[in-house]
Amino acid sequence: MEMKFELNNKVALVTGGGSGIGLAIAAQYIALGAKVAITGRNIEKLQAAKVELGDNCFIYVNDVTQKDTHGKLVETIERELGPIEILVNNAGMHSKKPSMEATDSEFQMVMDTNINSVFALTRTVLHYMLPRGKGSVISISSMAALFGITQVVAYSSSKTALLGMTRSLASEYSHTGVRFNAIAPGFIETKMFLNIMESDPARKEKILSRTPARRFGTTKEVGHAAAFLASDFSNFITGICLPVDGGNSIGF
Ligand code: NDP
Repeated sequence: MEMKFELNNKVALVTGGGSGIGLAIAAQYIALGAKVAITGRNIEKLQAAKVELGDNCFIYVNDVTQKDTHGKLVETIERELGPIEILVNNAGMHSKKPSMEATDSEFQMVMDTNINSVFALTRTVLHYMLPRGKGSVISISSMAALFGITQVVAYSSSKTALLGMTRSLASEYSHTGVRFNAIAPGFIETKMFLNIMESDPARKEKILSRTPARRFGTTKEVGHAAAFLASDFSNFITGICLPVDGGNSIGF
């Protein structure tokens, strides 16, 4: 029988699912039939997302950097929603300043949020996924992991480390049936990004002139890629970084 592109009855955990790319991923998963747990620190943001996403969205207030809370978070979702089959490591923070001015504590905070907590949460979820022999772990990286971009030394380090983590876990555990992939979104028109572009037309022109598709991406388009990597349609794909960037990373 033909396989259908769906996520019916799968349970997904999307960190930082209350806004931006995470919200779009959660929306796409729900549209394809999944039950989605979204996390974040801000309850109002999560509640607003639930209003938008409906009954198959479940909210859990959680700060990913508080690693000692991961066990309870995952155990609660497993009990309330069922076995987690999809983990999207999306929560992240950005920091931009000249590298020589970045302090150790700023560097540490970005690394804690964007990579250390990701590994800790992934390991917690894997305790459940590996014995079941089924799962898809997707980590949201960045163009900053593929290109040298100035003034984002911690961000770039953390997003590059995510790719190392993805490849290492994929080599070690893909034989179990659990897959590990990353997505590198290109320049995506979130509210904050559009504001920056409006105030810097020269930068906007530079980015667009280096993007073969000649436009910015949408959060929905990242959601589509995340749906593919979560679905059985990508069952033989593991250890990759999928750029969703209108061709930007061709680097012409
Ligand atoms: P947003 O700021 O909209 O989303 C980030 C989300 O992460 C928020 O919902 C926030 O929720 C959550 N978050 C941040 N810190 C924590 C934390 N300590 N614990 C739990 N949740 C946290 O930005 P984007 O949608 O743009 O970013 C999503 C991901 O995509 C990030 O990893 C980012 O690096 C990546 N990315 C984005 C690109 C873009 O163009 N927008 C390009 C490339 C990569 P709360 O405040 O409630 O905690």
